[in-house]
Amino acid sequence: MKNLWNDDAAEKLVADYAKKGVERDLALRVYTTRLLGGEPRLVLHGGGNTSCKTTATDLVGDQWDVLCVKGSGWDMGVIEPQGLPAVKLKPLLKARALNRLADEDMVALQRANLIDPSSPNPSVETLLHAFLPHKFVDHTHSTAILAIVDQEDSKRLVETVFGAKMGYVPYIMPGFDLAKAAANIFDADPSVEGLILDKHGIFTFGDDARQAYDRMIHYVNVAEDYVAENAKPQAAKAALPAMLATPAAIAPMLRGAVAVARGEGRFDRMISDFRTSEAIVDFINSAEIADYAGRGVSTPDLSIRIKTGPMALPAPDADKVGDYKAVIKDHVEAFAKDYRAYFETNDALDDVKRTMLDQMPRLTLVPGLGMFGHGRTLKDAKIASDVGEMWIEAVRGAEAVGRFHPLSKADLFPLEYWSLEQAKLASNKPKPLTGQVVLITGGAGAIGAATAKLFADNGAHAVVVDLDADKAAEAAKKAGNNSIGVAADITDPRQVRAAFDRAVAVFGGVDILVSNAGAAWEGRIGELDDALLRRSFELNFFAHQSVAQNAVRIMLEQGTGGVLLFNTSKQAVNPGPKFGAYGVPKAATLFLSRQYALDYGAHGIRSNAVNADRIRSGLLTDAMIASRSGARGVSEKDYMSGNLLGQEVTAQDVAQAFLHHALADRTTADVTTVDGGNIAAAMR
Ligand SMILES: [Zn+2]
Repeated sequence: MKNLWNDDAAEKLVADYAKKGVERDLALRVYTTRLLGGEPRLVLHGGGNTSCKTTATDLVGDQWDVLCVKGSGWDMGVIEPQGLPAVKLKPLLKARALNRLADEDMVALQRANLIDPSSPNPSVETLLHAFLPHKFVDHTHSTAILAIVDQEDSKRLVETVFGAKMGYVPYIMPGFDLAKAAANIFDADPSVEGLILDKHGIFTFGDDARQAYDRMIHYVNVAEDYVAENAKPQAAKAALPAMLATPAAIAPMLRGAVAVARGEGRFDRMISDFRTSEAIVDFINSAEIADYAGRGVSTPDLSIRIKTGPMALPAPDADKVGDYKAVIKDHVEAFAKDYRAYFETNDALDDVKRTMLDQMPRLTLVPGLGMFGHGRTLKDAKIASDVGEMWIEAVRGAEAVGRFHPLSKADLFPLEYWSLEQAKLASNKPKPLTGQVVLITGGAGAIGAATAKLFADNGAHAVVVDLDADKAAEAAKKAGNNSIGVAADITDPRQVRAAFDRAVAVFGGVDILVSNAGAAWEGRIGELDDALLRRSFELNFFAHQSVAQNAVRIMLEQGTGGVLLFNTSKQAVNPGPKFGAYGVPKAATLFLSRQYALDYGAHGIRSNAVNADRIRSGLLTDAMIASRSGARGVSEKDYMSGNLLGQEVTAQDVAQAFLHHALADRTTADVTTVDGGNIAAAMR
């Protein structure tokens, strides 16, 4: 691992922060914290922490000795000074004399002594930082260190690798007890340059930021070198089928299998993030992969992300892909059963009241292909994949120099079900469509873009499909929530297939279709050019059929139901003069919606239509509104609000109707009118 310290960069940051009133110690603390946080082999997503001991002045001008320590919720790679809240040091040090300190009391003590009460909670490892006398303290979960400590006989190996320069701290859950034990071990030999925490990670310390950082990189390199020099050959590889199924073929099956069933056809779905590389595949093709996965996580805080460890599947045979769904189901059931047993056994050991979390894996290893991270959002799914890559690094190293033997699951349990962590999860309430993927055609138009935004605001990830790639990307960006834009001419079935493949590649599947794209052609029906009518049927009927077919194909693989929503327009029931080329295929599409409701209701797939009318959009442009209102001799305003309610109907109103249908999980074969009231177009 390269030492990235650079004098110029460090001094530049010090000078920049000086202008903002941040003193040198804290600026350098920010500098090396970012260096550590930028390296995934050291820390990942909120893992690890750093501190420095300095002084701070409060609002009335009193100066205090403080510990600036990483605040919870901050990522080291992008930390700012406010991510290192200052806590008065003296009361923290006084706590060392206590015999016991409950987690909640520890948090209260830390919060009560913040210089700025609006700061985030100081790290749960704050006391450990406080009890060490050094000005700068760095802590990471280095994968190379984990290779050494995730061994049955780790104490001996730590001594072999690091000699007397590093103290060895047996495993204790983070918190007051660990802080005291680590401080006692340091006091027994203050000549050490850091502490190795069994089954957990490494602390280094120094008089200045550079010394603590240099020591971190140095001891990580000592571990890396030891692993490289003492590596035994890798375990044999498992035999793979002659032809492997593709990730796209198995992603929807897997996504469906890890959805949490809430009963009565309802599910809490997850997003899947597929990740692969030569290194990933090389490792998970090992004949021992299921065994490694079953042993657990490489450092305990990964349990917040991937629970008790990954789930390993057998390699999928392209010739037997139809049978693979059952294979996945069996493995997920076995994982869930083991998880329940883990919970019940360990929960029964005391009388703390805990709620069991869902029992679904968050990381699935597929030999030959790669791995899938699962999470309620794309962000969480990607974090699970990131964690998976570092789990592989640590296990590979541990197996190279011995046998991967991480923290036992009994010791992991109190951490996964830590009251502080449970509180964090409880505050993270899902939105109505969290975990769901919506694909919207005509997604860059007025109604499509409004729908994408509204669905994304309600937790869904949107796949915005439009003819125009730039406009699709722009609508996706406006929608937010990691939505994506995809260019496709939806009258071409191959492009439709490609758009759905993209949805599967990025999110793992599709749950909601909003089949919205359309265009209007005019002319008296008896005099219409056949080619024009056929062209209208291609877009206003066959494209709806083509996207619905693809959506249903994926929904059936997932086995978690789904929703098809069609924009059928008022024309489907109430023809306008010279509008047959538009209305006739739309009437067929209205019937198509009912046919899907009938044929797939038993699979939990609902199908509904929305009849919108007179919406300002690409179909009804401002110029058209001006000309039509003029022709009728009414104002534009009266023309747009010429309905029973006397109010203009907007794209937002249509989007709201689609959202309603996405959530109304006992409604199918329905048609909803969004036109402000048009009695001639009212449904019977
Ligand atoms: Zn830690």
